[in-house]
Amino acid sequence: MDDKKDKENKPSSEKENPIEQLRKQLENLMGDKNVKFEFAPNFMPEPPQEEFEEEIETNDILEKIKNFSMKPREIRDYLNRFVIKQDEAKKVLSVAICDHYNHVRRCLQNKTSPDAEYAKQNIIILGPTGVGKTYLMRTAAKLIGVPFVKADATKFSETGYVGSDVEDIIRDLVKAAKGDVDAAQYGIVYIDEIDKIAGKSNPGGKDVSGRGVQINLLKLMEESNVNTVAPQDMMGQMRMAMSNKKQKRTINTRHILFIVSGAFDKLGENIARRMDKNRIGFSLAPSSEKELEPSEYLKYAETDDFIKYGFEAEFIGRLPVRVACEALTAPDLSNILTSSEGSILKQYKEDFSGYDIDFSITPEAIEKIAQLAIKEKTGARGLMTVLERTLRDFKFELPSSGIRHFELDTDTVSNPKERLTKLLFENSDLVRDSLISDLQKFAKTFSKTSGFEIEFDTSAQNALVEMAIQADKSITAICTELFKDYEHGLAIVARNSSDTKWVLTKDAVENPDKFLSELVVKSFNKK
Ligand code: ADP
Repeated sequence: MDDKKDKENKPSSEKENPIEQLRKQLENLMGDKNVKFEFAPNFMPEPPQEEFEEEIETNDILEKIKNFSMKPREIRDYLNRFVIKQDEAKKVLSVAICDHYNHVRRCLQNKTSPDAEYAKQNIIILGPTGVGKTYLMRTAAKLIGVPFVKADATKFSETGYVGSDVEDIIRDLVKAAKGDVDAAQYGIVYIDEIDKIAGKSNPGGKDVSGRGVQINLLKLMEESNVNTVAPQDMMGQMRMAMSNKKQKRTINTRHILFIVSGAFDKLGENIARRMDKNRIGFSLAPSSEKELEPSEYLKYAETDDFIKYGFEAEFIGRLPVRVACEALTAPDLSNILTSSEGSILKQYKEDFSGYDIDFSITPEAIEKIAQLAIKEKTGARGLMTVLERTLRDFKFELPSSGIRHFELDTDTVSNPKERLTKLLFENSDLVRDSLISDLQKFAKTFSKTSGFEIEFDTSAQNALVEMAIQADKSITAICTELFKDYEHGLAIVARNSSDTKWVLTKDAVENPDKFLSELVVKSFNKK
């Protein structure tokens, strides 16, 4: 019997233990350098965790794909709930996604040979930043229930064209699928800033590293087997060797859907120039019409435009679905705030409701936020910037103010600080009540930890509230500092007298040490 067969036939009890397997693997790795490895008796790498520990029992993701039966309209309608505008992109993506997952389903059901010729519907999305390119794909992936990962192409070019860097994104997909390699094989990979790895703008010829990344990405988009643990990841390799569970060592990229995207600013200009040159006697847009922004030309991009821009013909050839997203206008941004189910405004409402605070927003304020956001030139991301700037101090102050409602109007957007000060002033009674409630909380905690009951009389309450407002500090911070010696001091007093409860007055607040030492002296006298 040959050696290999012999090993396979060994009963499991006789199989090598994982440490022994690891030792052999490491020695093999060292080749014939004759290096021997000994492990300390307590050596045992961390048990496999995260992505490899959790073997998904019932494979939800695979089940979903096997039962995929969506129609493009259904996907488009779902996207409409979240993404404003981008109608063309929604249509194109819905069709591409349906085609892709119908094909995958047929392969999984063995209705189509996986080797049959099929052009994968990889997609290139062009358009300015913050207009919903990623959001569209993320939302679609969520609907279908497949793992989704996003990376920037610039991350790959930074480290040159080492293939394994590009492959990291496939390993990330395995993580997104909670370690389920089978499910990850049907996920979606989104690579942004793809325009940054086109090298034609370099006057000395093509940018070599960008080209290298394109070639490596091309291999992934076609089909390749990627190691589930990077060869240079020693810890990962060890975990894999030590694990009792059978884990797939490679993931095949045949059915992974690739989406690449970028702003392609210069490409828009190039297309505009090309179209201008071709305009002999007549034009697509009559010259009397308003000038188009470069990004508005992206929808006319042709393969040759991409090649001239610095992409390899094969690379562009692997991205058959092309679509441009439109720039967003101020009314679009208003619409996002009011109608998108994923609106950032909704998130702010949820954040405030965590403190039982709600706010209403006037239509004029929405318009103003949108107008300010447009000036940021970052698409819908500008909304986050403006809202953060507007509500930053409100988020900090209101939770401890006792205020439960406010109105976000245009004044608030223009002068958030002034508006907040006014709001706090107008509600000073609530602010005061809230501070007193914090004071009572402090007294309760003090009693719990020390066993001695303290109470603040009205004069002490007023003095502490005033102090907190003047010092811009919380009641807890002020009391902790003022009464830091009280637990110890009151213990002495309690020992000398039978007192277990004390009322603290304004004097205790203004001169806590004197107040305490008088209590101590009195207690000795009593004794
Ligand atoms: P990019 O086009 O650069 O990929 P994103 O899709 O990442 O931009 O957009 C950033 C955020 O802005 C999204 O998470 C979403 O909240 C919001 N957003 C962008 N575009 C839209 C849109 N068309 N409709 C609704 N929200 C949008």
